[in-house]
Formats: sequence, structure tokens, C-alpha cells
Amino acid sequence: MAERKLHAIMIAFSFQGHITPFINLALKLASNGFTVTFVHTEFIHHMLSKAHHNITHVDDEDFFSGARQSGLDIRYMTISDGFPLDYDRILNFNEYWEAILRDFPSRVHELVGRIIQSNESLVPFLVADTFYSWPASIAEEFNILNVSFWTEPALVFSIDYHLDLLRENGFFPSKGNQEDLIDFVPGVQSIKTKDLMSYLQDAHITTVIHQIVFKAFDQVKHADFILINTVNELEHETLLALNKKQPSYAIGSINFSTDFTKTVVPKSLWSETDCTEWLNSKPAGSVLYISFGSLAQITKQLVDEIANGLLLSEVNFVLVLRENTDVLPDGFKNEIRGRGLIVSWCNQNSVLSSPAIGGFLTHCGWNSILESIWCGVPMICFPFYADQPTNRKLVVDDWKIGINLCDGSSIDRKEVAEKIKQLMSGEISNGLRDEIKKIRTILQNALAEDGSTHRNFNQFLKDLRAKVH
Ligand code: UDP
Repeated sequence: MAERKLHAIMIAFSFQGHITPFINLALKLASNGFTVTFVHTEFIHHMLSKAHHNITHVDDEDFFSGARQSGLDIRYMTISDGFPLDYDRILNFNEYWEAILRDFPSRVHELVGRIIQSNESLVPFLVADTFYSWPASIAEEFNILNVSFWTEPALVFSIDYHLDLLRENGFFPSKGNQEDLIDFVPGVQSIKTKDLMSYLQDAHITTVIHQIVFKAFDQVKHADFILINTVNELEHETLLALNKKQPSYAIGSINFSTDFTKTVVPKSLWSETDCTEWLNSKPAGSVLYISFGSLAQITKQLVDEIANGLLLSEVNFVLVLRENTDVLPDGFKNEIRGRGLIVSWCNQNSVLSSPAIGGFLTHCGWNSILESIWCGVPMICFPFYADQPTNRKLVVDDWKIGINLCDGSSIDRKEVAEKIKQLMSGEISNGLRDEIKKIRTILQNALAEDGSTHRNFNQFLKDLRAKVH
């Protein structure tokens, strides 16, 4: 009898930094012969529709129609998160996430049941974001395999995974001693308290973010497989230690796997300004790219110092400002006179891969770091919260491909200018460029036909198939 086809039911987490790797993982699974049912929340569907309404070849109702035209078997569904489309999910972060923790699992349960029922000839399994609070419970209820996908570095995963050790050793809740060394997390040589994720630096651990992390890492311990969007050679010890706990596979960066990049699937939550022409008019390596990702809330004071630092530095720049440009200092736009481009969103990969780009001032989101490495662009690191302080450690302290901006102190325009100059040219810049070439080669090799990412992904497919049949 022919083996029944495997069917991945994928439910993406509703943030840009999770959506892109999730879609790319869906494409990769489908290009390996799987059927995929991909689920976005209705809100994310709405955002994608708005962002892509000008693009005529995108089907407004079915974002995976392009993938199917390329021969991939991906079906698309949406699920309500229980809130109206115009509800501000960032402004009401706590209320929203409390409701998601409380009410979303039953919605997912109902949907997964429906998907399984209407595809009886297929063998279903679940692929959900590690941050969700329900995958293990739902997989158990339907008796299906549970693949947990982690879109951040293995280092961050390991620390969250071993929260009990942090508690036992008196580091969680935090005692607030920034320089204290934590050297007991398996696979993590040592890390200072100040480099832990922001939610582990709190003295009070009762926020909704803590609830999300506690539940997520309770659930993930029951996952059958863990996929991590990182590279073996970059986090070798950490991955080795994790693998002793549960089957874990470094499949990063999923966003640069080459076999399906031409497939058109909308991924960006905001419409992108095309910066190509502007960048083409600038000399090689002369432009600094500045973005703080999709979530960070920028204060007027921060914008003031960055903008004035840019003026003092005299470099060319592309600044992504999701906020209204009113937050910029008076007269700024006149003063920059053609040497700066301000956009509300762009295609970051296409910007970073322009020869004109010489550096990236980043908030240290994991996707941004991987993209910068892929394009060989050194970084100035200005982490805000969550995993960003920990990601900064990897970039600056471990891999030496970036420098810090204002080491923990308040931001100052003179230092902004100084650090921009250091990043863009001179001795420090040359050192960073030498190092990022090496890290880039590691990433490229991992993604090559015989590379570790490729091997790990194939091993995952083999182990998954073996466990199903
Ligand atoms: N990004 C983009 N255009 C922009 C700014 C960001 O396409 O103008 C993308 C970027 O390429 C990355 C994602 O948004 O893939 C942000 O993810 P990251 O993990 O870096 O940060 P987060 O938004 O989760 O804080």
C-alpha cells in the first residue's frame, strides 16, 4: 500500500519576525513533497492584504495561490484571534495577550479538528511557533506529531529552556547585579546577567510576557521535534547540549534557502518603499541603514539623538521610521539635502544587499542579524528588549561583527556620530568587515548543498517520516 502523504498544519505567530521564517518553512516543506495547510490570523491576513493591494499578481484571498502555481501543495486558511481588525494589538499588548493565552487554544483546537477531518487521506502533524501556549496539548489531543519552530537563536532558547536552573541558582527573579556571571546553563559557556533577555532581568515576574514564556517552555518540553532558525557552526555547543534533551535541528537561515525564493507569497505586513534607485546613486559602502524592526516603540528623544547623530556623522543613510515623520527634529529633512532617505518600511533584504550599504544600525532582532550577516554588513547594536540584548552579545562579544551604541547608558548624539564613523570606515570598521566575511562564509557554507543546514533539514525529514510510519 502507498504511504499516506504527510500534511503539515502550520500556525504562524502574529509578528513580522515570525511570519517570514514561518512562510519560508512552509515553502520548504511543500517543496519536499509535503502538503501544507498554512494558517494566519484574520488580522495578519488583513495587514498583508493592505500591504500588497497594489501588487496585481497577488491573490487577495489566497496568499499561497502563487506557490500552488509553482507546483507546491499549500492550502491557506485564517483564524480569528477574537478581536476586531481595527483593535490596536500593540497599544493594548497586555489585554490582547491575556486574551490570547486564555481563549486562543480553543479556537485552534476547533480549527485543527476541522482541518484533520477534511483531509482524512493525509497524515497530519503540527508545526507551531514555540511561543504558543498550546501546541503540545493540542497535538496530544489529536494524537499527532508536534514540531516546534523557534525563530530566535539557540542561545535564547537554551536560557528559556533552563529557567528552573536560573531559579535554583537565585538568578530568577533577577537580583539586579548586572555583571553576575551565569555559567550553569548547559551548552552556554557563560553569560552576564545584563545580557539575558529583558524579561529575565525583571525583579517582578508576573507580566503577561512571563506567562507566555512559562507556558511556551512548559509545552515545548513535550515537542517531538524542535526546529531552530540558526546555524550549527555558529551555536555548536548550545545546540549539542539541547540535542541531549530533545531532538533539535538548526535549519537557519530558513529565509535564504534558495530553492523557492522566486515563489511569490506576500510576507511583509507593511507596503515597501523601493529604495533601489536612490541607493544606486550613492557610492559603494557609503550608506548606513537604520531600522528598529517591526515592534520597537521609538521615543521622540531617541529619534532626536539618532537624527542629530546622523547629521554630525555626515554619512548617507536610509532611515526606517514606522512612526509619523513629525517625530523628527525641526528642519531635519531640509538639512539632510539628498544624503538621507526616510521611509516607513522597505524591503530590508534588498536594501542590505545593495553595494551602497556600508553598515546597519539595528535593534538586534534575530532576522535582522541573519540578514546583515548574509549581506556581509557590519552592525551598530542598539537592543531594546526581549531577545535583543542576548542577540547583541552574540554579534558584539562572540562574533565581533558589530559594536555597541551607548553601553547601557542613555543615548547621546555625539556618541551616535562617533559610532557611525567607526562603523563606516577606519581601523575598527576594517576589523568588523574581516570578521563578518568569516561569519558570512559560515552561513553560506551551512546553506550549501552539502552544508549543515541542508543536512539537518534532511535529517529532520527522515526522523519525522520514521516516527510517523
Ligand atoms: N523588515 C523589513 N523592512 C523594514 C524593516 C524590517 O522588511 O523596513 C523586516 C526585516 O527584514 C526582518 C523583520 O522585518 O526580517 C524584522 O524581524 P527582526 O527579527 O529583525 O525584528 P522584530 O521586528 O521581530 O523586532
